[in-house]
Amino acid sequence: MSFAGGCQCGRVRYQADGPASLRVCYCRMCQKASGGPFMAFVRFPQAAVHWTTLPELFKSSNLVERGFCRECGTPLSYHEIGGPNINVTLNSLDDPTAIPPTASFAASQKPDWLDHLDRLPNEEIDLTGEAGFVNNQRG
Ligand SMILES: [Zn+2]
Ligand SMILES: [Zn+2]
Repeated sequence: MSFAGGCQCGRVRYQADGPASLRVCYCRMCQKASGGPFMAFVRFPQAAVHWTTLPELFKSSNLVERGFCRECGTPLSYHEIGGPNINVTLNSLDDPTAIPPTASFAASQKPDWLDHLDRLPNEEIDLTGEAGFVNNQRG
C-alpha cells in the first residue's frame, strides 16, 4: 500500500510504501509534542519513507527524535534512535482514514473525558464560505 503526506504549509512532503501499522500513544511526551491528548503514528520500515525535504529533529529523550516542519510546526515523525522503523503522524497523511489503529501505548495516561467526546454537543464548521477567508494550508 502506498501513502503520501506532509506538513500544513507544504514545505515537507513524504511518500511511503507499506507494510504499515497504526498505533496511538497517550504518554505525556506525546501529549506535549502534539499539544493534544494523544498522538497517532503510522509505522514503516525506515527505508520505506522518502522525504522531499527532511524535517527538523528534536530529541525528546536520548532514545527518540521527533521530526517537525520548521516553518509551520506540524509534528511529522517519531523515530527510536538506532531502530529499524520510522513513524509518521497519522493526520499528516493526505488520507488519514487509510489505516485503522491496532494497538495503543500508555493508556493509563489517557484523559478520562476522551471516552465521552461523542456525547458532546457538536457544531459543524466550514470556513471556506466565509467572506475574506484565506486558507494557507497546502495539501
Ligand atoms: Zn510546514
Ligand atoms: Zn508516546
